[in-house]
Amino acid sequence: MLNVVEIDLNALRHNYNQVRRLIPPGTKIMAVIKSDAYGHGMVRVARELVSLGVDFFGVGDVNEGLVLRRAKIFTPTVILLGITEGECPEVIQNDLFPAVYDLNTAQKLSEEAQKAGIIQKIHLKIDTGMGRLGIPINEVVPFFSKIRSLKSLDVEGLFSHLSSANESCDGYTQFQLDAFKKAIDSIRKMGFNLRYNHIANSAALIQCKESHFDMVRPGIMLYGSLPSRALEKNVTLKPVMTFKSRIVQIKTVPPNSSISYGRTYITERESIIATIPVGYDNGYMRSLSNKGEVLIAGKRTRILGAVCMNLLMADITDVPDVQVNDEVVLLGRQADEVITCEEIAEKAGTISYEIYCALGGKNQKIYKRNLD
Ligand SMILES: *Cc1c(COP(=O)(O)O)cnc(C)c1O
Repeated sequence: MLNVVEIDLNALRHNYNQVRRLIPPGTKIMAVIKSDAYGHGMVRVARELVSLGVDFFGVGDVNEGLVLRRAKIFTPTVILLGITEGECPEVIQNDLFPAVYDLNTAQKLSEEAQKAGIIQKIHLKIDTGMGRLGIPINEVVPFFSKIRSLKSLDVEGLFSHLSSANESCDGYTQFQLDAFKKAIDSIRKMGFNLRYNHIANSAALIQCKESHFDMVRPGIMLYGSLPSRALEKNVTLKPVMTFKSRIVQIKTVPPNSSISYGRTYITERESIIATIPVGYDNGYMRSLSNKGEVLIAGKRTRILGAVCMNLLMADITDVPDVQVNDEVVLLGRQADEVITCEEIAEKAGTISYEIYCALGGKNQKIYKRNLD
């Protein structure tokens, strides 16, 4: 196994404890573990968080919810993307709480719940300005008037999502928070017992106290990344994911040699080239061609030429004593050097979220925990 994603469960614990530290004692935590916990492996991450007392999980779809239940994880779980009508029976049988944002689904779910003789909990999703999923803000009150007649549903929560909390708590975030508060007020006035109102993602929970409400929904910060540099002063997180490989070939080439597809790199001097079995099929983006760096023997080395499907080349001319099979760190720490997900994301023209999903989704994972 040359390529491996290592998941540091101690770092996950540390980050979860940072979430706890940032919110008032009574506030609940819904750990967002959608997309296989941002590539970190949903079941292992979930088990760890259960042992820390997490209150809720947020998963993407029903399938992820079922994976949790099959793993005997019975923590309350919200299906953030909502469900199709056909999925109602599975939701009911497995005690999953779907996000609901349309009446047809609500009706169908209520019918099925009635047949099963249960009261189904749901979390209603409203769109306060993200422009993505959710009941449009001006339709919230009419929606609740209709949902009142669906006796087998219990609207346990109301939630919404912020589009720009990584930028600031003012401006558009404030506008969304105000809209959310107004919606809560008008729904409470209609006699609904909303127990969990939630809107805060990592950025909001770190910097906007006003966004905490009854529950917060951290995702990226659990995995050790901040949604913006400006938040560094508020919290110290530990990266959970490391991505490692090994050198498969080393060769010395003369000046004027071209490296990789398209000859986008030509050596200027005699160079020593290390070939590493990582490419875009491993989630290591092609946009890192001629830009990315990897750690070899505790030193930063440049990627030369195009990143291929399964291979890339690094310049080790200035790194002494490197041998075939030596470890290469593409994300994470080696000796005194570190390559952060933010650095890779910036060079690849994307965000840390995408890097984690790509690397974690494509490579074998191992889990590490030190006794503390
Ligand atoms: C992904 C997601 C989150 C978590 O956002 P982070 O920025 O990763 O903290 C919270 N809520 C919803 C609805 C999401 O889709």
